[in-house]
Amino acid sequence: PAPVLAVVGRPNVGKSTLVNRIIGRREAVVEDRPGVTRDRVYYDANWNGRAFTVVDTGGWDPDARGMAESIRAQAEVAVTLADAVLFVVDATVGITDNDEAVVRILRASGKPVVLAANKVDDQRTEAEAYGLWNLGLGEPFCVSALHGRGSGEMLDAILEAL
Ligand code: GDP
Ligand code: MG
Repeated sequence: PAPVLAVVGRPNVGKSTLVNRIIGRREAVVEDRPGVTRDRVYYDANWNGRAFTVVDTGGWDPDARGMAESIRAQAEVAVTLADAVLFVVDATVGITDNDEAVVRILRASGKPVVLAANKVDDQRTEAEAYGLWNLGLGEPFCVSALHGRGSGEMLDAILEAL
């Protein structure tokens, strides 16, 4: 079977937009409003001739369990099912407490993690992503899921991680 990449991150950081960018199709549903409940969805992806499966771990139910608990549960599920994790952060917002809780889970799992600093739509925003080195997850890959900026380098790193 193809190796599995799980996409993890807070609501509204651009996970589904990035999934569409990775698979080259508009299949993942992009929401302007955070916190929409949805099941995990699997997509076939291919980069440089290597096939892999992408899981958009969406599935939020903040009303039932609280946002922090929902985000932690998502991360726990992701590291269990995945060979590697794509951790998506909104570079224009920076790191939140919820992000740090997820980082602890990812680190403890020992699974390879690729860090995507999303919404870097232009050169100017790239400077804001520099602080993400502090997460201790290695190089933040600056991407714009919306425009495609930086996605090639990120995908190269994903293939190395899988
Ligand atoms: P998710 O909740 O993490 O899956 O986030 P979505 O993919 O649904 O995106 C949330 C919002 O962020 C939508 O309005 C997207 O259009 C927007 N968005 C996603 N990626 C980018 C990006 O690279 N740049 C900008 N400016 N907006 C983005
Ligand atoms: Mg989504």
